[in-house]
Amino acid sequence: MTGALFDTEAFDGHEEVHFFHDAQAGLRAIIALHSTVLGPAGGGIRMWPYASDDLALRDVLRLSKAMTFKMALAGVALGGGKSVIIADPARDKSEALFRAFGRAVDSLGGRYICAEDVGTTPEDMVHIDQETDHVVGLPGKSGDTSPLTGRGIFRAIEAAARHRFGSDDLNGRRVAVQGCGNVAVQGCGNVARHLMGYLKDAGAAIVAADISETAAARAAQEFGAEIVAPDALLAVDADVLAPCALGGILDDASILVLRARIVCGGANNQLAEDRHGRALHEAGILYVPDYAANSGGVFSASREALGGGEARARAQVDGIGDTVGRILERAEADGTAPSEAADAIARGVIAAAKDASIQ
Ligand code: NAD
Repeated sequence: MTGALFDTEAFDGHEEVHFFHDAQAGLRAIIALHSTVLGPAGGGIRMWPYASDDLALRDVLRLSKAMTFKMALAGVALGGGKSVIIADPARDKSEALFRAFGRAVDSLGGRYICAEDVGTTPEDMVHIDQETDHVVGLPGKSGDTSPLTGRGIFRAIEAAARHRFGSDDLNGRRVAVQGCGNVAVQGCGNVARHLMGYLKDAGAAIVAADISETAAARAAQEFGAEIVAPDALLAVDADVLAPCALGGILDDASILVLRARIVCGGANNQLAEDRHGRALHEAGILYVPDYAANSGGVFSASREALGGGEARARAQVDGIGDTVGRILERAEADGTAPSEAADAIARGVIAAAKDASIQ
């Protein structure tokens, strides 16, 4: 990371950033707590073979900040945090590694509540659970968050269509989905697969791509998706682009080739930099901030951390459409980009909670 770390856009006033190393267990991890104003920081554990420690740090900071905004918009009593384990999930997993990570989480005394994310599964949480109480997403509990995440993205797309096209009827609309869901994992991940189920039921035409041919073939078979090459997906002619793979895909170059009029999907941190939210707005593309659209999993996981039933979580997820509608209306009224409006609303929630705690 270049320049003064504390002044970077990614750092954004993080409360705490911890580095953990356990040579024997093979653990190199960073836990970032962006804000605990609304409650203990909640956020997943990403396991990824980062090319450098700098990239891992940048990723965990940006993901953690987005979690704060996600929680604030979702209205749950949790703050924002995230962790990364710098390792290859296909090669480096062991009970010792996850137990060492569990001890790291425990050392934070409940200020961070972890769950699975890209590269980790509910089974990995079982080892972490042996060392700390501050883990959710265990098998048989709130478990897989992706069905509710997929449902929430669908509600967000409906709200965006209502705003842009005057109707939330997706029948006949063409939706381009980037990433079809990892076929190698069962019982977690696969946000896109759940989303495509809702899209198909609504009568939308799906065009999709995945770097895994098996994943793409499954989408074609299950949802009648038209499959294109991964590097062609962003430029396909579609009403909606739903990024559901990894982040950082909306940058100066990709915004120039986009043909979709709405971008709304599940991937975290879709904007390469915050300024790309404005660039999309100026290009006439309605971008639904990722942390507003993909918060379905939060309602699922917070049920385990804070209590509440499944029916309530489902109703909260259906409310994502109203939240997105409010963001888009505020952006229109203020003449700002939706990403800027959403950031302002989330920061307002946190500032109000801070004020209330001081009085
Ligand atoms: P997943 O691993 O099941 O699916 C991701 C898919 O994207 C895989 O099939 C992968 O092969 C594919 N992919 C990777 N790079 C690609 C590329 N360049 N082009 C096309 N396809 C590509 O993961 P998931 O759990 O469905 O998560 C997807 C995204 O949604 C991630 O960014 C994740 O952080 C975010 N997210 C997930 C949840 C959840 O509940 N699982 C919640 C919020 C956000």
